[in-house]
Amino acid sequence: MSTTAVQGPSRHPVASEALRDAGLRVTQSRAAVYAALAAHPHASADALFAAVGPLMPRLSRQSVYNALNDFADAGIVRRIEPAGQSMLFELRVSDNHHHLICTDCGTVADVDCAVGHAPCLTPSQDHGFAIASAEVTYWGLCSACAAAA
Ligand SMILES: [Zn+2]
Ligand SMILES: [Zn+2]
Repeated sequence: MSTTAVQGPSRHPVASEALRDAGLRVTQSRAAVYAALAAHPHASADALFAAVGPLMPRLSRQSVYNALNDFADAGIVRRIEPAGQSMLFELRVSDNHHHLICTDCGTVADVDCAVGHAPCLTPSQDHGFAIASAEVTYWGLCSACAAAA
């Protein structure tokens, strides 16, 4: 009988459980990327690689991208694509929240529904669409950048 501690995913029990619940095989890199995303909401793939890389020297940038794509396909990660910026990822899914983004430093903050609940914004014309969600990005200066301006 081995007493060797299991390395990897067991260090991220919450991540492992979330991956299993989503039907994804739990691997060390997936668990590490998921845990990094929990600690850094609205992170880019590169930022996550920078966060996880030092802990897992053999992890490649590509495996971070692959893990994020797998998470997104499984519906446990949301992609945010602010115009002109890197794609960002977060674990807060399916609540139709919106984002405030600082045009100066890039800080991102969550905003709950703008009006009521999902899709929370009724367009002036729906062209016959059955609307499921609305994604709003508010651009401006965060308080720190506004204070420094
Ligand atoms: Zn700012
Ligand atoms: Zn968010």
